[in-house]
Amino acid sequence: MSLTSPIALCLLLSSCGAQALSGHFWHITDLHWDPQYKMSSDPKSVCPSSGSQAVHNAGRWGDYLCDSPWDLIISSIYTMRHILPDPDFILWTGDDTPHVPNEQLGEEAVLQIIANVTHILQEVFPDTKVYSAMGNHDFHPKSQLPAEENSGYLRTAELWGRWLDSSSVVTFRKGAYYTERLLNKSGQRVIVLNTNLYYNQNKLTMDLPDPADQFKWLEQELTSAAASKEKVYIIGHVPPGFFEKKRHTSWFTQHFNERYIEIIRKHHPVIAGQFFGHQHTDSFHMFYDSSGSPISTMFLAPGITPWKTTLPGVENGANNPGIRVFEYDRTTLLVKDMVTYYLNLTHANLVGPRWEKEYRLTESFRVPDASARSMHGVLRQIETDDCALQRYYRFNSVNYDLSRCDSACRTKHVCAIREVDFTRYESCVVTEGVALLSLAPVLLLLPAALSWNPIM
Ligand SMILES: [Zn+2]
Ligand SMILES: [Zn+2]
Repeated sequence: MSLTSPIALCLLLSSCGAQALSGHFWHITDLHWDPQYKMSSDPKSVCPSSGSQAVHNAGRWGDYLCDSPWDLIISSIYTMRHILPDPDFILWTGDDTPHVPNEQLGEEAVLQIIANVTHILQEVFPDTKVYSAMGNHDFHPKSQLPAEENSGYLRTAELWGRWLDSSSVVTFRKGAYYTERLLNKSGQRVIVLNTNLYYNQNKLTMDLPDPADQFKWLEQELTSAAASKEKVYIIGHVPPGFFEKKRHTSWFTQHFNERYIEIIRKHHPVIAGQFFGHQHTDSFHMFYDSSGSPISTMFLAPGITPWKTTLPGVENGANNPGIRVFEYDRTTLLVKDMVTYYLNLTHANLVGPRWEKEYRLTESFRVPDASARSMHGVLRQIETDDCALQRYYRFNSVNYDLSRCDSACRTKHVCAIREVDFTRYESCVVTEGVALLSLAPVLLLLPAALSWNPIM
């Protein structure tokens, strides 16, 4: 064997093992700290984030009707350090404040909450680079993030100054978006978007063609990434596409949704992964090219807050707190695997906080990695194998909702995962519904036949 052969070099360099090729990073999202959470015996005064709902037997680690107490935030972040103390980096995709009316917060309170969460992350991970995106709750008034410089962006850029390059500060001040080489390495890049500009609740931006010129900038960055042979991770808070727990519920204004998909389709060869939050549920969105081949996956991480959504039409929409580690190829940025850890909140309040592994993607869905092709394979399992659907459904609420996902539930989830485009989603809902209806005569025969029996 020649000493210049790759194998010989690997014997000489201890960094040649699979260890060096693979790295790990955390993705956390939607912490939603409720600073006024307290274990009150008065069900009406446990947490402002429960609104008018009474909270009985509130525990130290939180309640499904409330946003996170500080103890839960601390527990999550120290658990991250316990499980993986030295990640390559951390993705943090926003939403730090409680679900309360604007009048109960104000700009100072919002910034103070962002500051406290930033501080604890910096204290626990002092040497770790954090790529951080603003959420729609990280601004006052909520969801009204402007398409121009303002004190909220300036002050958040200051709070995150330790994590931002000087060039990032410039674009962050303009529109709360930025890009940097991933860990300053050549060939790798992170793009942090402010997709709150595309949120359909944002009255300031919905009629603008390109708020804060972010789309133009994104296209330029992706074009130059391709020219420099870079691979890119995109992170953001509000995702395009549909919410899988409620039919016909999307987040982006339609023209922004279209533009986003167009950009992903055009530039997908450089995009190695998309990481978003906002929904508090564990799911993903697939992107396909015009021939139907899978080209990209957007991973939607579960929230740390257990807060049960008050979105009308969503039943029992709470979750257990979840945190997630990704394993990736340090050279190609291929997403190799993800492991989600969770806290069973009921158990925590009864016995004590015990964070556990919930699942590892490649184990639970028997796929080789988390590439777009493999994630398409996961979707096919969810579509065709009822066991896989039920497993996915349990993970969707981080082991909170253990009920059965029936056919209507399956349609919602499958269509939200498969179709980010508005028109295609609507036809998916119809087609999947029809597919189920074709089974209906068989199902209907039974009760019909039984109803003819006078003894029944
Ligand atoms: Zn949120
Ligand atoms: Zn949000």
